[in-house]
Amino acid sequence: MTHMHVAGSIHADATSPAPLWLTRPDDVNALTAAVWSKNAFRNADGEVEIAGRTAASIVAEMGSPVYVIDEDDFRTRAREWRDAFAGWDVFYAGKSFLCTTVARWIAEEGLGLDVCSGGELAVALRGGMTPARIGMHGNNKSVDELRAGLSAGVGRIIVDSSHEITRLEQLCAELGTVAEVMIRVTTGVEAHTHEYIATAHEDQKFGFSINGGAALVAMVRSHHSPYIDLKGIHSHIGSQIFDTNGFEVAARRTLKLMAQFHEATGVTLADLDLGGGFGISYIKEDTPATPAELAAGLRLIVEHECRGFGLPVPRMSIEPGRAICGPPGTAIYTVGTVKTVDIGSGQSRRYVAVDGGMSDNIRPALYAAEYSATLANRAGEGGPVLSRVVGKHCEGGDILVRDEFLPDDVGPGDLIAVPAAGAYSRSMASNYNHVPRPPVVAVRDGHLSTLLRRETMDDLLALDPGA
Ligand SMILES: *Cc1c(COP(=O)(O)O)cnc(C)c1O
Repeated sequence: MTHMHVAGSIHADATSPAPLWLTRPDDVNALTAAVWSKNAFRNADGEVEIAGRTAASIVAEMGSPVYVIDEDDFRTRAREWRDAFAGWDVFYAGKSFLCTTVARWIAEEGLGLDVCSGGELAVALRGGMTPARIGMHGNNKSVDELRAGLSAGVGRIIVDSSHEITRLEQLCAELGTVAEVMIRVTTGVEAHTHEYIATAHEDQKFGFSINGGAALVAMVRSHHSPYIDLKGIHSHIGSQIFDTNGFEVAARRTLKLMAQFHEATGVTLADLDLGGGFGISYIKEDTPATPAELAAGLRLIVEHECRGFGLPVPRMSIEPGRAICGPPGTAIYTVGTVKTVDIGSGQSRRYVAVDGGMSDNIRPALYAAEYSATLANRAGEGGPVLSRVVGKHCEGGDILVRDEFLPDDVGPGDLIAVPAAGAYSRSMASNYNHVPRPPVVAVRDGHLSTLLRRETMDDLLALDPGA
């Protein structure tokens, strides 16, 4: 299990139903700005309002549940990363959330875009993303996916295995082209939130090991291939990282590898990508560094390590995903049922069941990710009650927000909003229990526009030839 928060629920005091990090709020209706999109607040009527639209009016127009993206906040964050890292290339990790409109926003804000499947590539291209600004990832890209990338002329293919090098050479021979390639390496660094582990962790599916020597072998092989233009090295150390410690070790190890490659071939590679994984505030206890702080730290680290190895500073790139699309996104649900259960020692827990669940946000069930939630259609009048927001699926683990204080008077028909839900929610959504996936709508200056429409029963039945 990926442990998303150091003081998470697994450290909870056995006698208290609340995890240690969760404190009873003085005002159960207060929104913590760091967790919400920039244009969200609770208005004078007590309703949650996002970019000029109340939660209730969004649901009235678009139905429930619904994912809402604050467009201005999304674009502002994209620009913040671009500007903080001026001189570096910033590639938005499309897997965090992608549709054609988002690809267009990313292009308009001057970022590149990473894809990791033929589907994401098709959406990026259809959205008007310049192929030369697309990076193509994946540890097991199919021949068709590689062909699509080469034919489109993607700017870089991040190669993950020696089988892929062979496949690329065959395809380039067939297509009469040369592939622009970065070699994905495993640095032995794995980072999660405040912690990083700088040994082991080579025991995973991605990339060529630096320690084992496979990375240098793959680089030298690519360098000598007439079908490959080797641009550089790629490293991605993890997710929900709050500081630069893990990146420092990754930079040192990748730059050392560049120095070794230079020794072996006389060639200085041009590019180094340090990946993504920059953390966000899912809950108010999460305090990630800002893009400006990270940029200042990473620039110093890279310059320092390059001096140490006698290398020029390469053309640098990073790949934020959740840090751009996570905070602008809010999921809004409607409450269907509420019950309170006795959990022993005089303690109780409130279960608030909503009209979505693990099919529209799998992260809490998949790796115990934490979120917060608030009553969105009105201010609560009751005091804070320890609650668990659960979905409608036939699984006990169908939890959206494991621990949160909600007002005592939450009941059927109320709206619950979950902030910081823009990343890896719709993009990982499923049709479990044949529940149609919710729409994604952009809101800006009071106007709603559909980014992805709601699935219908007809959509689900269209796949079933017996229907
Ligand atoms: C997932 C991924 C990212 C983005 O991760 P975030 O946590 O969304 O920033 C960037 N690069 C690579 C290679 C990835 O696999």
